[in-house]
Amino acid sequence: MSRKKIIAGNWKMNKTPSEAVELVKTLAPLVQNPEVDVVYCVPAIDIVPVAEAIKGSGVKLGAENMYCEDKGAYTGEISAAMLKDAGVQYVILGHSERREYFGETNADINKKMKQAIRNGLTPIMCCGETLEQREQGITIDFVRQQIKVGYQDITAEDAAKTVIAYEPIWAIGTGKTATSEQAQEVCAAVRQCIREIYGDAVAEEIRVQYGGSVNGGNAAELFGMPDIDGGLVGGASLKEDFGKIVNYKG
Ligand code: PEP
Repeated sequence: MSRKKIIAGNWKMNKTPSEAVELVKTLAPLVQNPEVDVVYCVPAIDIVPVAEAIKGSGVKLGAENMYCEDKGAYTGEISAAMLKDAGVQYVILGHSERREYFGETNADINKKMKQAIRNGLTPIMCCGETLEQREQGITIDFVRQQIKVGYQDITAEDAAKTVIAYEPIWAIGTGKTATSEQAQEVCAAVRQCIREIYGDAVAEEIRVQYGGSVNGGNAAELFGMPDIDGGLVGGASLKEDFGKIVNYKG
């Protein structure tokens, strides 16, 4: 089965609303590739102006986080329904920065996964090991656990439509990319874990991204690996280089 590649920019806490609109304009002529799903995952306050700015471009809109409850007294949080109503289709869940700085656990992420799916959003669920875990040889066990808990009580039909981003923490924002073999090994293990939970059909359909210092120079090799269906891109998504990543074959 050939899976459509998905390349998502994670803008993190960068770009004010007016800067965000400028960035969309700068990237617009560069990110044309109908063979790839392109997603901008933007800060919450940028969602409304970016939704307007990308109209008609084919680029899809994503959020970087959301809360697991429907509504109510959760000051400062954003609900799935709010995202959906503003035109968001994808939501990054469980990014390592949320796990590390905001204490998000696998169980929290599972709640958010279910809430996103219930509201018609597609989760991009992040997983990945620290350098210490890699050196201890426990990368695959660790990532498998993140997936098993993250997907608890999610049906096969729903799981098939989700996206998993394998992002080794030591490669995020460090300029130190995993080799394509290292990335392929873990992305294949991610798919195998999904196969064990849901069977072959879901494992073949689900898209697994690699993230961690992807740039215009390494994207083609990474995305050419059999189990890597695109990338989650931080730093380079804020630059013209993102156009090279989206057109990685060129
Ligand atoms: C990320 O934050 O998801 C990421 C992969 O960042 P970078 O591309 O900057 O390493």
